[in-house]
Amino acid sequence: MSLITVGTMAFDAIETPFGKVDKIVGGSATYVAYAASNFIKPVQQISIVGNDFPEVEMTELTSRGVEMDGVEVVADKKSFFWSGRYHLDMNTRDTLVTDLNVLADFNPIVPENYQGADFLMLGNLMPKLQLSVINQLTTRPKLIVMDTMNFWMDIALDDLKEVLKKVDVLLVNDSEARQLSGEFSLVKAARKIMSMGPKFLIIKKGEHGALLFNENHVFFAPALPLEEVFDPTGAGDTFAGGFIGHLAKTQDISFENMKTAIIVGSAMASFCVEKFGPERLKEITQKDISDRIQQFVRLVNFDIDLV
Ligand code: AMP
Repeated sequence: MSLITVGTMAFDAIETPFGKVDKIVGGSATYVAYAASNFIKPVQQISIVGNDFPEVEMTELTSRGVEMDGVEVVADKKSFFWSGRYHLDMNTRDTLVTDLNVLADFNPIVPENYQGADFLMLGNLMPKLQLSVINQLTTRPKLIVMDTMNFWMDIALDDLKEVLKKVDVLLVNDSEARQLSGEFSLVKAARKIMSMGPKFLIIKKGEHGALLFNENHVFFAPALPLEEVFDPTGAGDTFAGGFIGHLAKTQDISFENMKTAIIVGSAMASFCVEKFGPERLKEITQKDISDRIQQFVRLVNFDIDLV
């Protein structure tokens, strides 16, 4: 029983209304791995880094059950770099810089010992690389979940549509759902996106929670109202890691269990935003996670008399 995760391992520079960091570890696969490894081991990572990526970060991830056989280290190049600035609402941000660096020549190779994994998390990455990983797997995983972003919709839409045909669950935020579908109504957008391939669609709405669509069903999970939000970077990837981590742990990919999984994802994302980068994810314990999930239960649980 294992989970393969694919995505970036990166450096980020982040500016929020509350502070600024010039160089902090980030990347979609980094956040997914920190979140998912609380629920399932091994997490089998596929990514690429340059000569600048900290050894201590690799060691930390390894100690959490993240396997690095699929992480290529390029000796003479730099790691992927992304920089973003958040607006006052902290729900929207502008990308300032995307330096592909090592990612420009990345050709992911699925290690032999990763074959046979039941779950595949395609973290945010060039769509054609996501597709290449799917195509290398000798047995199709039980569930393929895909994350992406507007950047790839702008520059690689045709490739992205090819991947969509092969995945079970797509995760996007509300503006990306609108961009991909050309529809303003999220219900119409969901119907259109599901007709492109994925049977399940999750639309994340930042501090306003997340929607899960499947056929004619829809489920809503709130985000926890937090007193302090420092840095939303990686919240989407952390959500994805919690979501697929829970499904992989329980080996149940029903719509009912996905409802629980999006609560787990929301709980993990609520930790991520409390500090810059993945720092907070490194501190939390299993007890912190179950206490936070209980907070979600209390947040939405109420008795009502039928009128
Ligand atoms: P999120 O806030 O969940 O959307 O994820 C932010 C993380 O995604 C950052 O740590 C970035 O390093 C990484 N990232 C930003 N842009 C891209 C991109 N175009 N492809 C892959 N990863 C990216």
